[in-house]
Amino acid sequence: MTILLADAFAPDLPGRLAGFGTVTSDMAKLPEAEVLIVRSKTKVDKAMIDAAPKLKYIIRGGVGVDTIDVAYAKEKGIAVDNTPEASSVAVAELAFAMLLALPNHLVAADISMKEGKWLKKELERTELLGKTLGLIGLGRIAREVAMRAKAFGMTVIAYDKYVTQSDIAELTTLEDLYKRSDYISIHTPLTDETRGMINAAALAQMKPTVRIVNTCRGQVIVEEDVVAALKNGRIAGYATDVYYSDPPQNSPLITAPNVLLTPHIGASTEENLLRLGDCIVDRLRKYTGKTEKNV
Ligand code: NAD
Repeated sequence: MTILLADAFAPDLPGRLAGFGTVTSDMAKLPEAEVLIVRSKTKVDKAMIDAAPKLKYIIRGGVGVDTIDVAYAKEKGIAVDNTPEASSVAVAELAFAMLLALPNHLVAADISMKEGKWLKKELERTELLGKTLGLIGLGRIAREVAMRAKAFGMTVIAYDKYVTQSDIAELTTLEDLYKRSDYISIHTPLTDETRGMINAAALAQMKPTVRIVNTCRGQVIVEEDVVAALKNGRIAGYATDVYYSDPPQNSPLITAPNVLLTPHIGASTEENLLRLGDCIVDRLRKYTGKTEKNV
């Protein structure tokens, strides 16, 4: 069995998978691959699936399977799995780092110091204590963010179309969340329902002091609308790890005021890469029926 590792994983993963078959990172071996393992970089579209006639199993190391044409894979009898349990803490810590960086002007402060400026008066900070955090989507990552926000003394409210009770956040409507939140952190998958949900109409309902953090998917917001709102003071800040494309092409976000941008590193912690490896080994054990002893 040929196992094709298409994206970057922990350096020890090829060795850990060797007991299951021949492991390669050579994309030229795609026609021979029975198992294809990807992160978010490789887009598994129809053309790629058609180029892999022996493919039986795709593992997405990570959460969102929007980078895979799941319907077409299923049509071809190819199973698709992800590892949603691995990345929650890694992404939540980045979201929380953004929640701290925005009101503390960490990036502007750092840049100004390196430019020889002393903006002690200009860089007025605000605290998270007592502020309201609105979570859109209350799944694994959002729950980790909620725990951290509570430790900082924030009030945590949430809207999730598919969650009806919660022990960690006060559930509310989207309209109420927009109205009350000082911070909004988005944690939905990218679906037809969530694509473009943070648009001009949504932004118009928010406080002008709101700061939005997006570690889920770039397409959940309408970039042009968010940039317009930043420019005209309709919102106070936007931090994002995700874009319309990786890397962003001609995105107006790059030059917009009060933005904080990271290059899709939500899942890229040392610890998470090890956890992803554990999950992938686990998936392959189930797929092959091989037990701990012989892999
Ligand atoms: P999850 O499935 O545990 O949680 C997603 C939540 O969104 C669910 O509770 C679901 O009910 C809710 N939801 C779905 N549709 C909704 C809608 N229309 N309105 C409101 N809520 C809705 O997923 P998770 O592990 O928390 O991950 C969330 C997303 O984060 C992933 O889908 C992925 O796109 C993104 N992600 C990004 C990175 C990164 O590197 N930045 C890494 C991992 C995951």
